[in-house]
Amino acid sequence: MEFYSGDINKLIEELAALPGIGQKSAQRMAFYIINLPHDRVQRLSESIITAKEHAKYCQCCCTLTDQELCPVCSNPKRNHRMIMVVENPRDLIAYEKTGKYEGVYHVLHGAISPMNGIGPADIRLKELIERLKADVDEVIIATNSSLEGETTAMYISKLVRPAGIKVTRIASGVPVGGDLEYIDEVTLLRAFEGRTEI
Ligand code: ZN
Repeated sequence: MEFYSGDINKLIEELAALPGIGQKSAQRMAFYIINLPHDRVQRLSESIITAKEHAKYCQCCCTLTDQELCPVCSNPKRNHRMIMVVENPRDLIAYEKTGKYEGVYHVLHGAISPMNGIGPADIRLKELIERLKADVDEVIIATNSSLEGETTAMYISKLVRPAGIKVTRIASGVPVGGDLEYIDEVTLLRAFEGRTEI
C-alpha cells in the first residue's frame, strides 16, 4: 500500500483497523473523507473525539452512555425488578428497538470463554450480583447462543438461583451462533416471550 503518500496511507491504515473494514473499503472511505468539504471533516473528527471523551459506563447496568445513569436505568416507568442480561450494548439496542421490553438490562461486555482466557472476573458479573441485593423478580439471560453465550448463561443461572430469584433463558428461536444484534425484531420478541426457566 505504498502507492499513496504517508498521510493518506496512515488514514487508510487507521480505517482498515476498524472492525468489518477491509483494505478496499478503507481506501474508498479515505478518498471519500479527503474529498469532503473541510467543515464536514472537522465535524466528523470532532464527533469521534467528543464521543470518546464523554463515553462512560452506566453506573447501574454498565451500558455505554454519556450520563451517570443511562436512559433506561433512569426511567422510573421501567420495571426495575426485571433484569435482562446481554453481552454488549448493541444487544441492548436490539431489544430496545422492539419497543416491547419494559424491564431493565445488565450489560456484561463479553462472555465467558475459557479458550480465549476470558473468565467470570473479566466481564461485568460482579456488578450484576451487586444489583441482585435489591428487589429483583426475574433475571432473563439473553446472551448469544454461541458456546461462550451458553457457558455464561449456565454460570449466571448457578450464581443467581440460590438467591431465590427466577432465572430464565430466552428461547432458542435465536439461531445457534447468531449475534443478537443481527436478528430481526419479530424473532427477538418470540425468543423473549418463549423464555423458559433454567
Ligand atoms: Zn443503565
